[in-house]
Formats: sequence, structure tokens, C-alpha cells
Amino acid sequence: MMDKCSFCGRTKKEANLLIAGLEGHICDHCIEQAHNIMIEELGGKSNFNLDGIKLRKPDEIKKFLDQYVIGQDKAKKILSVAVYNHYKRLMQKADNDDVEIEKSNIILVGETGTGKTLLARTIARMLNVPFTIVDATVLTEAGYVGEDIESLLTRLLQNADYDVKAAEKGIVFIDELDKIARKGDNPSITRDVSGEGVQQGLLKLLEGAVVNVPPQGGRKHPEQKMIPVDTKNILFICGGAFEGIEKKIAHRLNTAVVGYTASRSRDHYDKDDLLKYIAPQDLRAYGLIPEIIGRLPVLTHLSPLDRKALRAILTEPKNAITKQYIKLFAMDNIQLAFAPEALDYIVDKAVEFRLGARGLRAICEAIMMDAMFELPSGEAKEFTVTPEYAEHKLERVDMKVLKAS
Ligand code: ADP
Repeated sequence: MMDKCSFCGRTKKEANLLIAGLEGHICDHCIEQAHNIMIEELGGKSNFNLDGIKLRKPDEIKKFLDQYVIGQDKAKKILSVAVYNHYKRLMQKADNDDVEIEKSNIILVGETGTGKTLLARTIARMLNVPFTIVDATVLTEAGYVGEDIESLLTRLLQNADYDVKAAEKGIVFIDELDKIARKGDNPSITRDVSGEGVQQGLLKLLEGAVVNVPPQGGRKHPEQKMIPVDTKNILFICGGAFEGIEKKIAHRLNTAVVGYTASRSRDHYDKDDLLKYIAPQDLRAYGLIPEIIGRLPVLTHLSPLDRKALRAILTEPKNAITKQYIKLFAMDNIQLAFAPEALDYIVDKAVEFRLGARGLRAICEAIMMDAMFELPSGEAKEFTVTPEYAEHKLERVDMKVLKAS
């Protein structure tokens, strides 16, 4: 008997997809229709069900992060506690003991490509709350070219399917916070478009305020009706490389240890990773205003990734790059493998060209491109990426191009 959709009678040929059940089949058309009926019936409820959040304990949050992010133990630990406390705070009942748990926005400092965004993204994935990444560099003060501060929340609203209540408990990752630091120590008389003014604007969001968000963003749609969003319960995670901040840290450490224990203490500092001593006053010396620093009470750093970490990133995370290629090829019934030496070679190249973790993907892509093009229509059922193959494919690639990607 020919397989047919038990709902509409479409045959296997007529449908794009026919899924078999115990006693019947359903086609893609009917699934879609059923889905729409369901949304209608349930009154358009969004996917974000915050009441149903299962609050994980900090060690469980960290274990979840471990599945996706390599290393960065300290940052993971601090982030886990901050997120746990944040959600406890959301659940706190208004009792009359006057103890109010305050918001603990977070600032992550570390070189680019060390996993700042990945950490924030993974947290949001775990919590199933609306999440967005915004870049602080697009911000300027109201009236100037660029985005208004409020538009930071447009994407969050969009990602929450315009469910304002869900968005108000979401997470916003603000990348490149260092770019809005005040340049130089003396505030200039001319307006500092990308500096202090923007920080003042941002402060309002971090503190918690009702802001009018343009639902479609930008200033291109002057007629759009603004949507008020309360930022009181939005968790802000900021990230930045703060290039050169090591100098400020070193300066502080050195001035702090003047005295009879000076020479001993100084030797204790790990000069290759000064970031781990970062303190709020270093951010201030870098050009963030004290009010902003005060609103980002959880400060932590990410360490540069060494060879071992880069190697692990290729294979270990749940959605590691090599796992993704293996899955892609498996869909064509081709068994893909990477020789361990080929992985070492990829790491070598990433280190040699200072591409960091970000470069791993670009290097792999360059190596795998021809295979991805040719193998699906070939005969081979197995394919192993050897170091020779990797080297051969990479020889023709301009590494400068990879750096830009
Ligand atoms: P950052 O925000 O610090 O500039 P990202 O989090 O965007 O860096 O990292 C860029 C890419 O590099 C990520 O998509 C991820 O694939 C990889 N990556 C970086 N750091 C790590 C890490 N610690 N563990 C696993 N993957 C990482």
C-alpha cells in the first residue's frame, strides 16, 4: 500500500516530507497547519515561558557551560553565580524585610576570540530567555549619526517576538564596551560623541528605567510607535578586549607594592596574564565613568587561549567545529575523520597567524571547501583529512584573508 498522509491524503510524492507514526502518517503541510492552529488556540503565547524556568544551581550552570566553552573556569564560575543570583532576584517576593537583592550586571574582559560572546550566548541558551548581542560601537549620543541607546533593545524585542514581558527578563550582551571609554584623561570641552555621553545614556539602561524602544530600530521609521520597555530586570553582560589595560594593571600593581615587601610581591605576578588581576579602578583608568563601573559589579576576565585549549575547541565542545563537518558529511553517507596530526596542524596555523579561536573555523572552512564541493557527488564513502591534505589546501589561501573574516 502506498504511504499517504492520514490527514489530507497526500502521497509521499506529493508531500515534501511524510512522517510515519504508529498507525498513520503526517505530511509537512499538515504539520504546519496543525502548528498554526496550535498557536492560535493558545492565544499566541511566545516560546519564552519564564514561569516554567527551572532554576539550576550554580554548579549545574557551570557544568552546562563546560559542554560548550573550553577553559575559562574562573569566568564560568563567576558568571554562574551571577546568573543564579539574577534569577533568584527575579523570583524574590515583595516581603517587608527591606532586603532587596540588587541586579548584578556583568563585565567580561578578555582578548577577542576567547569566548566572551560564547559564554553569554550559552547562558541564554540554557535559560531559554530572549537574548541579543549588540555592539557598543554603533552607539552615539542622541542627535548624532548612529544608533540611539534605546535601539539596543530593539533586537531583544524582536528576538522575544515582541513579547515585552519576556524581553524585560532577557539578557543583553553588549560587545566592545571598551570602545566607548573616554579617550584621554581630561574630559574635552567639545562633545565626546563616542565617549562619556554614550556612557551616560547606557547608565540609564543598566540602572533600570522605562525606555521607549523603536520596534523596528534606527531612525528610518519616524512614524513607528515606540514600545515602552522596563530594563529593571534585564541582565546586561558587557564584554570588551580593553586593549592595553595591562599597562594600567601593571601600573597599579607596581605602585601598590612599594614598601618593604615590594620585591617579593612583584615576583608573584604572572606577567603573561596580567588581566587576572583586573580591578574596577583599572576600568576607570581606562576611561569608563565610575557610575558605569558601579553598575557592572561583577567583573571577571578571560584568559588567552593556549594551544591545548585551541586543540580542545576543535573537538570537544558539544557543537565543536569538527563535529559539525562530520555531521554534514554523514548526511551524504560519507564517514569523515580528522587525523590527529591534521588537527595539530590547524592549531599551528591559528597560532602562527595569531588568529585565535576565531581563526579555527576560517582555517577549517578553507581546508574543507573542495571536499564539501566534490565529495557529495563522488563515490567515496570515507574520507580522512590528513595533515598533508590540510597543508595542500591551505597553501593556496592567503592567510591575511582569513584574518579579516
Ligand atoms: P569574543 O566574544 O571573546 O571575541 P567569541 O565568543 O565570539 O569571542 O569566540 C569566537 C569563536 O571562537 C566562538 O564562536 C567559538 O567557536 C570559539 N571560541 C572562543 N573561545 C572559546 C572557548 N573558550 N571555548 C570554545 N570555543 C571558543
